[in-house]
Amino acid sequence: MPLPDFLASHPLAFVFFALLLGLIVGSFLNVVVWRLPKMLQRDWRTQAHEVLGLPQPAPDPTYNLLLPHSHCPHCNHQLRAWENLPLISYTLLRGKCSSCKTPISKRYPLTELACGLLSAFVAWHFGFGWPAALMLVLTWGLLAMSLIDADHQLLPDALVLPLLWLGLIANHFGFFTDLDDALWGAVAGYLSLWSVYWLFKLLTGKEGMGHGDFKLLAMLGAWGGWQILPLTILLSSLVGAVLGLILLRLRNAQTSTPIPFGPYLAIAGWIALLWGGQITASYLQFAGFK
Ligand SMILES: [Zn+2]
Repeated sequence: MPLPDFLASHPLAFVFFALLLGLIVGSFLNVVVWRLPKMLQRDWRTQAHEVLGLPQPAPDPTYNLLLPHSHCPHCNHQLRAWENLPLISYTLLRGKCSSCKTPISKRYPLTELACGLLSAFVAWHFGFGWPAALMLVLTWGLLAMSLIDADHQLLPDALVLPLLWLGLIANHFGFFTDLDDALWGAVAGYLSLWSVYWLFKLLTGKEGMGHGDFKLLAMLGAWGGWQILPLTILLSSLVGAVLGLILLRLRNAQTSTPIPFGPYLAIAGWIALLWGGQITASYLQFAGFK
């Protein structure tokens, strides 16, 4: 039996397949989260030199998502195939580089685990088919951009914009909502945060959020339609308040430390896409509208 037919007729096998795939993708996302911002910064530096008419810096050695091969940042030991397996290698290596014994950040196996579990959950929620496949791609994208935003206060266009187009294409086929709602979801998502940004800037003279946040909400609107936007904004404030307080406690940080909004929007949008209908129906019922 070909693999797709087997997965279509065995729901648990599909969930397990998504878990394994998620672990492998999570391992690749670690690379994306580490390298993409560096690649962008290098491009921006080159462009700035060009605009200012400064001599170009010496070309850097090849650096992209595939090359150079994964290596220990401390001793440059190049990882062998068995040292590159998601979760398993970290466990076998007991969290240390095999060559110099420098501890490996727990964040790598945790990202792989999170990606695997989220992928398994998406497979279970949607069942075998296009909506599951598309939602897996979106989930991986949201995970990568949340981590990059948390590290650098940056939501790369290279991740957000292709996913915006993908959401519109998915809804051309009506997988999550119809194309009209998706189009207005993208427009309203962008404009709502854009307006908040300008209002806040006119009133206080400060920048309250980044342009990446407008694009991210536009992208989420393209997937779920304009209907998910109020819930997404509401949930992101809730998630932000809860996680923000926890982070402040953990880091003992000042309230003026910039806290990126992207991860909260990403988490809220993901929840709204999976359960938006039920959540909206129950709070309307709770408020006595139905
Ligand atoms: Zn090492």
